[in-house]
Amino acid sequence: MIRFILCGLFLIFIYNVNGQPFYNKFEKFTLSPAQRSNVINMKVEALETPELVAVSLKWNGIRKISGPSFKLQYLSYENKWSEELTFINDTHLETDGSWGTFLPLYIPENAKEIKILPSNLIEEIDVTSNIFIVPMQKSLTDKTSEMSSLANCFCDTLLFKSRDQWQAPNTSVSYRYADVTHLIVHHAASTNTSNNWANVVLSIWNFHVNTNNFSDIAYNWLIDPNGVLYEGRGGGNNVVGAHFCGKNTNTMGVCMLGNLSTVEPTEAALKTLRQILFWKSCDSKINPMTQSTHSGVNINNISGHRDGCATECPGNFMYPKLLELRSLVKASIDACSVTGIDEKMEDQYVITPNPIKDVLEIPEDTKWIKIFDFNGKLYLYTSFLIENKVNVEHLLEGSYIVQILDKHGQLHSGKMIRVN
Ligand SMILES: [Zn+2]
Repeated sequence: MIRFILCGLFLIFIYNVNGQPFYNKFEKFTLSPAQRSNVINMKVEALETPELVAVSLKWNGIRKISGPSFKLQYLSYENKWSEELTFINDTHLETDGSWGTFLPLYIPENAKEIKILPSNLIEEIDVTSNIFIVPMQKSLTDKTSEMSSLANCFCDTLLFKSRDQWQAPNTSVSYRYADVTHLIVHHAASTNTSNNWANVVLSIWNFHVNTNNFSDIAYNWLIDPNGVLYEGRGGGNNVVGAHFCGKNTNTMGVCMLGNLSTVEPTEAALKTLRQILFWKSCDSKINPMTQSTHSGVNINNISGHRDGCATECPGNFMYPKLLELRSLVKASIDACSVTGIDEKMEDQYVITPNPIKDVLEIPEDTKWIKIFDFNGKLYLYTSFLIENKVNVEHLLEGSYIVQILDKHGQLHSGKMIRVN
């Protein structure tokens, strides 16, 4: 009984890092199996109207346990408790099972109180909640239209928001560098909606640094559902991140914002993903179609987080798209490179005739054929193939990517030029 009384509020501190456009409110409390919830007041003195409020959690136990789970409810200004929102465990951590963290949940800016509800507790644990608040701030909105650019191989220019442009705090981190051989795709497993995705990127930086105690944001790049690309970890090209099962050396991590186990990735985000993977494949001479050894295991050069360890990341809607993504990245390289990448791509499909006016000849063992433009828009998809010929007369003049699947399940692609 005494133990029960001791539970509850333990410590609160709030800070606004000098010159940083956000506030952090930390609260440390103890939860026991008998305790059903802990309520935290959301009020932060001297704070303007918030634009984004994110809540993340870190817990510590004595024993190694399979892990508690948590839900959150918020109290609106109309004094109504919301439905219960479920925290998602962060699977990017190396933990021995005696501690863990939960990804940020985004709640309305005008919430008065939040309630943290644990379940599966078998012992008393310490919990630290991190409430991250970005105030309405003119400087942040002013900067959102600025973009930086990245020379995309030999063919294209890729625009992105630099760390300065999403207002990443300055850090004095000593970065580590390594040649990149593998490109790893993630999803953020959090909110699918925002009216300011730069703030969401900032909240992920905060979660990684102030809840997970990483030195910087884990990912090298992030992509929002509008297709905007954000520079992640500082330090520049080939900097080692913290995203792939503790085996980060020689990888580049790209995070698709949103929960791609509950929604499909948008076309705009997929297009940007293809471009950044294309850029890095070209930059580091990575063959997007093949496998190679990473930390003693043979994996695809373009892999999902789940190919490295047990996690749902990059989400059940995103993971199956990696197959097609690899061949589209390769097709972009084939189409754009002047000198090409060093190694010969053995699975390149040679289009005949090329340029082409009306009838495309395809290999005998073709199961289906798809024809895209370079923005990934699909113009033709058929598995109804007569005499290994496909009529492309109806396509406008221009360059296309042709992709075919053979009867052994191998994807091949090549560039086709259509003329009148
Ligand atoms: Zn991941």
